[in-house]
Amino acid sequence: MEISLTLEKMPTWLDENGVARYLLKTDQDFIQMQSLLGRQITIEFTNEKYCANCSNRFEQLFRMGFCQNCFFTAPQAGESIIRPELSRAHEGIEDRDLEFEKSYQLQPHIVYLANSGALKVGVTREAQRPTRWIDQGASAAIVLAKTSNRFEAGQVEVAMKAFTGDKTPWQRMLKNDIPVLDLLEEKQNLKAHFQGALAPFYAEGEDEITNIEYPISNYPTKVKSINLDKEPKIESTLVGIRGQYLIFEGGRVLNVRSNTGYRISLTF
Ligand SMILES: [Zn+2]
Repeated sequence: MEISLTLEKMPTWLDENGVARYLLKTDQDFIQMQSLLGRQITIEFTNEKYCANCSNRFEQLFRMGFCQNCFFTAPQAGESIIRPELSRAHEGIEDRDLEFEKSYQLQPHIVYLANSGALKVGVTREAQRPTRWIDQGASAAIVLAKTSNRFEAGQVEVAMKAFTGDKTPWQRMLKNDIPVLDLLEEKQNLKAHFQGALAPFYAEGEDEITNIEYPISNYPTKVKSINLDKEPKIESTLVGIRGQYLIFEGGRVLNVRSNTGYRISLTF
């Protein structure tokens, strides 16, 4: 079967066994990616790229699957998306589109601790959990703080970054080279740093740890990222999925999210 599609972040969820599941959106439908595991598939980049925001075709996309203009003007790529601490909608101050920013920022957020190859702190909208953790390939995550908007979550994140990392070491994550961490203990150790205005946000008693497994039989010992611009055709066996990466035989990996907007044909 040959299917055409424009790559974008795979929708994910956690099934009843704690295993991450993935869909790949096609022009018509969705593919359950688990059904392709262990099979030889071909991905061929057609050399067409479309902006994820305005849908126009471009020679090059800029960042986040957006063309340069959309990246610098669309509210979906505003400053507060990447840096929650710069949120201003709670003060009624517009960055690019106040209505969009209000609906995005003025909703419950969480600050979490995750183990995705290293301890990291992150922010997400409450409704995005556990999707956000799966997207990052985390093995486990715990809620550290709960806030009523994005600005407050950003303040907590900035304060906690001084004591934890905030990056996912993607190669370690893809090799399942995950340190043993007690996230509850890490959370409790951070409690002392919730001072002043931050104190009410600490998620006291929310001690449940979400463990996440990924559909992969054998983790690679080395990983190498595939660049579709340099190598437009991949013909290989899909051995696993973690984060937003498709993992092929021999440890070659394709980051679906970072290739957002790339038009491909998928054959299986
Ligand atoms: Zn655009």
